[in-house]
Amino acid sequence: MKNTDIQIIAALKQLLNNDKLNIAIVPHEHPDGDAIGSAIGLAEVLNGFGHNAQIVSPTDYPDFLKWFSAKTEIAVFSRNNKLGKKILNQSDVLFCLDFNEAGRAGKMEKLLLDYENPKILIDHHPYPTSFCDFMISEIHYSSTAELLFDVICKIGMEKYITQSAAEALYTGILTDTGSFNHNTSDPNTFKVVSELMKYEIDTQKIQSGVYHNFSVSRMRLLGYCLSQKMIVFPDLRTAYISISKKELEEYNFKTGDTEGFVNYPLSIENVVFSAIFIEKDGVIKASFRSKGDFPTNHFSHDHFNGGGHLNASGGETNLTLEETIEKFTQLIPAYKHQLLETVI
Ligand code: 5GP
Ligand code: MN
Repeated sequence: MKNTDIQIIAALKQLLNNDKLNIAIVPHEHPDGDAIGSAIGLAEVLNGFGHNAQIVSPTDYPDFLKWFSAKTEIAVFSRNNKLGKKILNQSDVLFCLDFNEAGRAGKMEKLLLDYENPKILIDHHPYPTSFCDFMISEIHYSSTAELLFDVICKIGMEKYITQSAAEALYTGILTDTGSFNHNTSDPNTFKVVSELMKYEIDTQKIQSGVYHNFSVSRMRLLGYCLSQKMIVFPDLRTAYISISKKELEEYNFKTGDTEGFVNYPLSIENVVFSAIFIEKDGVIKASFRSKGDFPTNHFSHDHFNGGGHLNASGGETNLTLEETIEKFTQLIPAYKHQLLETVI
């Protein structure tokens, strides 16, 4: 935790070493395994200490993340904003997990910005904005879950880590590293994993819960995308997939079904940049992935109103799907030099 001042840790420790507090925990919208795993892990620990921690997710989360052992309920703001508002209004402390700017909480943005009690950010995305009172922003961590484990230890709460909290934190690390495929150059990641293993978590169960838990229609949608919807530009070392709302409906789309699709084109020999464009509720959601040091977050920030990590980022646009594809295909040649120079 190179970036975090010890005074921040001391202040956090003092803040939480209090009688029962109502604590709200908010992950980013369309939460992934790291956002949900971190939220559940933190809630378990804080509740074990004696606080009343509740999670409010801005939007629903995928079914394949609904198997956690922890009994913590997750309120979904997009489904019941009254409940979400109530939890925040009644809370003494707010944790923002796995995002770097209030806008990543979607429709909860204003609630977060207007929140008057102490606000704590724990996150690993680059370019954080200072919308919280306490910022624990460590971009070299594989995942928020790994960082959270270190924070929990630093504030002396490790004895409240339960098996189900360890399972949730492990899931965060597992999913943000693509099953230990990327962002694993720091020995600390494996150190934390080995600490979590001491809680006798069932890693097979977690692997199955996350990766072997898809619907038939999701598998068929993946097959369709790879065989019919993937366009490869070998000369530009780039590939993209696009999916319309109609196509999603044909495949009985459910939240999270397209999660991970953007990674597949990177398995093609010599492809270093992959994109997916998905038509959702009037906007086009874009996801980008790369190998080597091609900065997808800059690309996303510059052209798709987004951001994220170097190798994994996202954004969105109000263009139509056709216009988005047109924009992307016209943009890519300008990156030819950088794409060809990318070392993998
Ligand atoms: P995904 O492509 O899986 O949705 O997201 C990959 C990464 O990019 C995540 O770290 C996520 O937080 C970030 N990201 C995704 N969408 C957006 C967006 O619209 N804006 C910003 N700033 N970051 C995003
Ligand atoms: Mn993350």
